[in-house]
Amino acid sequence: MRNALGLMLASVVAAVVIAAGGWFYYSSRADQAAPKTMAARAADQLPAQAKLAARDDVETTAALAGKPAAAAPAPAPAPAMPVQQRSTCANPNALGVSRVVEIDTTGGPGFGFEHFKQFDFLTDKEVVLTFDDGPWPVNTPAVLKALADECTKGLFFSVGKHATYHPEILRQVLAQGHTVGTHTWSHVNLNSKKMTEQQVKDEVEKGFSAVRFALGTNPAPFFRFPQLQHNPAMVTYFGTRNVAMFSTDIDSFDFRKGATPEKIVETVMGRLDKLGKGIILMHDFQKHTGEAMPALLARLKAGGYKIVQMKAKTTFQTLPEYDEALLKDLKVPTSSARPIGSVVQTVSQ
Ligand SMILES: [Zn+2]
Repeated sequence: MRNALGLMLASVVAAVVIAAGGWFYYSSRADQAAPKTMAARAADQLPAQAKLAARDDVETTAALAGKPAAAAPAPAPAPAMPVQQRSTCANPNALGVSRVVEIDTTGGPGFGFEHFKQFDFLTDKEVVLTFDDGPWPVNTPAVLKALADECTKGLFFSVGKHATYHPEILRQVLAQGHTVGTHTWSHVNLNSKKMTEQQVKDEVEKGFSAVRFALGTNPAPFFRFPQLQHNPAMVTYFGTRNVAMFSTDIDSFDFRKGATPEKIVETVMGRLDKLGKGIILMHDFQKHTGEAMPALLARLKAGGYKIVQMKAKTTFQTLPEYDEALLKDLKVPTSSARPIGSVVQTVSQ
């Protein structure tokens, strides 16, 4: 009798343990089955300083300057995110990419006729889509979605500091087959009289190191000057670093106060219809730009324009002292100092 009772009790305990274990397993799976969106996770990680930046940077890209580097938060540990290239296009009427050009950046060529007129490589009706100041939650993913829906590609100039805030968004940009260049560490006007030669170099090199850190791989040796401001000494410097410099042919003015998706589309198309081709300057940092993209891409397609993607022949080689300085700034433990791409590689899927 006692044995039978003991057996029953043991069975009940075992059943409870199994049930509890099952519940725990189910809960864990449920958590995994419903991951937060990338933007939601990025928002969770968004430090107060970055949230402030989100508000006061909306009006003008120039306002991005001057955020103290010391306040930059450590980036989220790089999650193992599968890097998938879309090889097929689900949209049979997509705008697509008509031509991919590979740029040999030796000696620092310049592009965009507003400042650099040497390389007139686009033919009539050809355009290059470029996006500055990201990565940023919501806005960058909106641009990515619009581009993906039309199976087309762009060129992104990332601000180094923003890349450290939202590395997973920038990795999505790269994973979706776009080209990633840089746009300084903190978006200062490099041509300001206050900037010393050393400070200019620091802004440029730290920007590249930050984007490399976020991507886990070297970015393209492509660079755009904040506010398109540069001087001959900088052009010489980029020549020594074999980095292509980008200005623009068509400014969308999407960063201006009062910009709306409709105004952005009209500004771009108005100028494009006059010039017939060109490199278009937009900002994936700006909310209205993401909202304007579907209509803009539709207008480009209707107008018979073709998208050219610019890629680099080689990647940018960061300077080790800036990689190290960045890690120190971000307070990344030495044990995880290596970029994810040098530790984890997808070899088959
Ligand atoms: Zn900018």
